[in-house]
Amino acid sequence: MDQSKSLMTPNKNSKRTKSVIRTAGVIGGGIIGAWTALHLAEAGVKTTLFEQFPLPHTRGSSHGQSRAFRLLGDNELDRLDYSFDRWRDLEDATGELLFVKTGLLNFGTAGDPYLKKHMDILRAGGRPCEWLESHEIARRFPMMRYPEAWGAAWDPSGGILLAHRCLTAVQRKFESLGGSIVAADVRSIRSIPGSGVRIESRSSVNGVVGKIDLDTAVVCAGPWTGKLLPVLSEHLQPLLTPVTYWRDPEETCSVANGFPILFNARLTDMYGLPSFEYPGLVKVLYHGGPTTDPDHRDHASLAPYIELIRRYVAEYLPSLDSRQPAILETCMYTMTPDSEPIIDRLEPNLIVGCGFSGSGFKHSPATGQMLAAFALEREDLLPLGYATKRYQISRFS
Ligand SMILES: Cc1cc2nc3c(=O)[nH]c(=O)nc-3n(C[C@H](O)[C@H](O)[C@H](O)COP(=O)(O)OP(=O)(O)OC[C@H]3O[C@@H](n4cnc5c(N)ncnc54)[C@H](O)[C@@H]3O)c2cc1C
Repeated sequence: MDQSKSLMTPNKNSKRTKSVIRTAGVIGGGIIGAWTALHLAEAGVKTTLFEQFPLPHTRGSSHGQSRAFRLLGDNELDRLDYSFDRWRDLEDATGELLFVKTGLLNFGTAGDPYLKKHMDILRAGGRPCEWLESHEIARRFPMMRYPEAWGAAWDPSGGILLAHRCLTAVQRKFESLGGSIVAADVRSIRSIPGSGVRIESRSSVNGVVGKIDLDTAVVCAGPWTGKLLPVLSEHLQPLLTPVTYWRDPEETCSVANGFPILFNARLTDMYGLPSFEYPGLVKVLYHGGPTTDPDHRDHASLAPYIELIRRYVAEYLPSLDSRQPAILETCMYTMTPDSEPIIDRLEPNLIVGCGFSGSGFKHSPATGQMLAAFALEREDLLPLGYATKRYQISRFS
């Protein structure tokens, strides 16, 4: 793949930079903000990453040990290819395991036009994929029991990103390039006409409120974005989502035993990952949950959603103990009306990346590259396949 790894890479097609960006603030130390800050630091910009909570924390969307990576399901492969390369580069640089290949089953009914379209995209790109009928799924994975009318597209490139390690590795790399992570809650961001932005924040360490003027700001505040930028709140819906782990007494549904990622969100709103992060426990998730305020999320009731997951486990994964989850954790989604993110310029020096709708982790290296390019007014450096127009806020108006 021949795409620029850093926004410093000269591009003969690039236009002249409109303004010189020397300083930047990124608000939000989750995976999107961390990658954005790293790209800006790689481009030589003095970058401050503001995070309201002491790191690491479990109150946003980027915590936990695992996220699914899949090729099948995207219209353009460029962002995924770029992202996968950057995850691998980070693995090489840190010497840490960040990705475990497992393969992925993406479920649908026979002739499903969505899966057909996406299998065609993979094939056109020379990537392997295969349609498996229900009986073939049962032959390869006897620990599953799915209805005859269902099948699945087999995406052998799928696997697990070790989320916490990934996030920490990006934050550390950012700091190694001189980037600064500040424990502070950003209260407001105001454009300063003709120059940049003024960020007001309150230190999480000593409560001191301070102001700083910077050339540009990128807001990656996950489920809090609508609070910081109320103009976006009508397009963003934070959800609390249950993350459940089910005991696998025979340990047949493990990475070591060849159990793949199950992506069954379109038929049942469920997806699952083999036992890996907690030995002997299979992770099963509901793709959704109750609407909530990220500062009061623990008041939302997850009981009906856990019961839906329990029924799924009992019906389709009979080797698991389906009486109750062995572990329950929670996480936040930030949904948009079309489940596509917002990656756009809100004001000349104010960029926003939010609304990843439960699927932003795998692409985050490319998303950070896009946000940094917007901040540097160098969108012209982005590969055409990134289709940046698709993520503009104006699509909702
Ligand atoms: C259960 C679950 C499973 C998922 N599975 C997958 C998957 O399999 N594959 C995949 O690709 N994606 C997956 N996702 C989606 C992916 O994890 C998210 O899209 C991604 O983590 C979003 O990152 P973020 O940086 O936008 O948000 P966050 O991680 O929430 O980061 C936002 C940060 O901003 C900080 N912040 C907010 N406001 C302020 C402020 N005013 N001042 C300072 N700091 C502030 C917050 O504290 C937080 O740390 C999943 C998500 C969940 C919840």
